[in-house]
Amino acid sequence: MAIDTHYDALAIKRRGLMLVLSSPSGAGKTSISRALLARDDNLSLSISVTTRPRRPGEVDGQDYYFIDKIEFELMVNRGELLEHAKVFDHYYGTPREPVMEALDAGLDVLFDIDWQGTQQLGNTVGQDMVKVFILPPSTEALEQRLRKRAQDTDDVVAGRMARAADEMSHWNEYDYVVINVDVDESLARIKAILQAERLRRERQKGLADFVNRLRGVD
Ligand code: 5GP
Repeated sequence: MAIDTHYDALAIKRRGLMLVLSSPSGAGKTSISRALLARDDNLSLSISVTTRPRRPGEVDGQDYYFIDKIEFELMVNRGELLEHAKVFDHYYGTPREPVMEALDAGLDVLFDIDWQGTQQLGNTVGQDMVKVFILPPSTEALEQRLRKRAQDTDDVVAGRMARAADEMSHWNEYDYVVINVDVDESLARIKAILQAERLRRERQKGLADFVNRLRGVD
């Protein structure tokens, strides 16, 4: 589109944002994240470290960095994690350095983390964050999606359903809430959020210089 190209050509310096997506497991967050990442060159995924065992099909360094508990504790003690939490029976955390480098370079980072991590991030990074909560359309849909994950046992599914109720109680700590009836529709909504948030005045660090040039002021 001509207008977008023109706008991009101005290359106004911008600080990256942190797009946080949280939801109970089974609400469709992973499909939405993958689709968002595939279509947006300016967005990359924050790859978490976890002590959870790798599921079939998951790739180390792509889905997670799979590490053991000793390594995890070392990272916590060295301050290498921006946030960390225990989810179900395993530990998860967000490596700090890649995130900070991306934001400084004007690149946006997507986080697939739970409410505990979101709260911790909020305490450390503040304005860089955009928090989106994804809800399933019904309890039945949630359970059905959890059951489709053949690798999870009945016990795991039951545990996750209980946990989902708890996770969903945090919906009102988020900036936006998307009910995921249809993945394409949810994707369009999250893209709209992203587009609007990228235009926030305080993220567009180069605006003052740009306006000064427009006004002929040095
Ligand atoms: P799963 O084991 O199904 O991949 O993820 C379980 C839960 O852990 C999900 O709700 C996911 O959002 C959360 N999670 C994944 N990585 C992180 C992380 O780095 N920090 C926090 N706080 N939660 C995470």
